[in-house]
Amino acid sequence: MNADQRMTDVDSWRRLPAAQQPDWPDPDALKGVLEELASYPPLVFAGECDQLRERIARVAKGEAFLLQGGDCAETFDAITADQVRDKVKTLLQMAAVLTYATSVPVVKIGRIAGQYSKPRSRPIEVRGDLTLPVYRGDAVNGQEFTAEARRPDPERLKRMYHASASTLNLIRAFVTGGYGDLRQVHEWNRDFVNNSPIGARYEALARDIDRALTFLAACGADPGEFHLAEFWSSHEALLLDYEAALTRTDSRTGHSYDVSGHMVWIGERTRQLDHAHVEFAASVRNPVAVKLGPSSTRDDVLGLIDRLDPEREPGRLSFITRMGRDKVRDVLPSLIEIAAEAEAPIAWICDPMHGNTFEAATGHKTRHFDDVLDEVAGFFEAHRGLGSHPGGIHIELTGDDVTECVGGGHPIGLTDLHRRYQTACDPRLNRYQALDLAFQVAELYAD
Ligand code: PEP
Ligand code: MN
Repeated sequence: MNADQRMTDVDSWRRLPAAQQPDWPDPDALKGVLEELASYPPLVFAGECDQLRERIARVAKGEAFLLQGGDCAETFDAITADQVRDKVKTLLQMAAVLTYATSVPVVKIGRIAGQYSKPRSRPIEVRGDLTLPVYRGDAVNGQEFTAEARRPDPERLKRMYHASASTLNLIRAFVTGGYGDLRQVHEWNRDFVNNSPIGARYEALARDIDRALTFLAACGADPGEFHLAEFWSSHEALLLDYEAALTRTDSRTGHSYDVSGHMVWIGERTRQLDHAHVEFAASVRNPVAVKLGPSSTRDDVLGLIDRLDPEREPGRLSFITRMGRDKVRDVLPSLIEIAAEAEAPIAWICDPMHGNTFEAATGHKTRHFDDVLDEVAGFFEAHRGLGSHPGGIHIELTGDDVTECVGGGHPIGLTDLHRRYQTACDPRLNRYQALDLAFQVAELYAD
């Protein structure tokens, strides 16, 4: 294939309809921004994307577990050292527990450093007499309900790039500068177990991990893996103009990579087979994922496999299933069987958040901790029943002490939601709920 043909490949999505794109008011301004973005350095390297593809290949083969998590929507004003640190710390703590419980490596991926745009169910929002464009994420417009804030502004795409760059810089510093040290991470888990009201429940598991670490130390084992954690970035590839401006040809291989993040996924609302998002994902070599909701059909699954993983390459394609606790046991098994018939080495990831959202009487969008856990249980049951590997979980969470989801060990009730309801979009598990979930998922996995 020559360079011109590759150009056509990478641009072929432009000929197809793309759902959920903003109505940018000034096309010339957008063009200028995209040209500038196309000249910026990559946020991640193609070789790193290849490494992550190899790690996910192990998930697809049943030799690793995957933990993906972070905000529903990142916001520019939340990029502080403390917030990024606490999110990464929470994910590392969850991963330590899951590593012990699954006895396999845990591939740690943030919904982070690029998760700035959102698909929405309606293009407009009405409040009283005023109708305005809906908030589509900080990459597009502002949350404030004023005409000025809600006007899509392409300059925000540049802020998204810089926000992603500074977040990635912090993450790289944290995980190589001591935060990734397994013993340190375990100490934080000990604090959680000792100081949380339900900590006693997890005492035995924490003590087992203590013993394993002490045993290894006594043997003189001090592998590099204990000091350094691998941590990858991911986001929904929603704004195709941005993703395309960050797509580069790798000089080593001549392949195209979306260098805005290590892994990108296609959401439930933009996975139409004959639309632009699937076409774009087909044109890049990153590991990619697609969300599958309860209405997914046989043709959807087979079509996505053929478009996105024609070579049946382990690690290339993950399905993130988000069925809802009441549907997962009925719907998921047939999808797993269809993929198996197509001999597709899928990494199966459970998103137990998006099928379990409801509105509280106070108007807050929320999720119940028990529903989230039950969907993970249903996901494990479905895979165990078929002999396939329950590859991992995908969670909306924050390292902060928010009150957005109900239930959990530090129980939050429906009437507590208003206290610290801070999300820019969907409700996230707070730090305690996230750790609680990791311990409970660990117990479920081990059963
Ligand atoms: C999300 O992950 O925030 C999201 C919008 O999910 P889905 O595409 O599954 O609805
Ligand atoms: Mn969400």
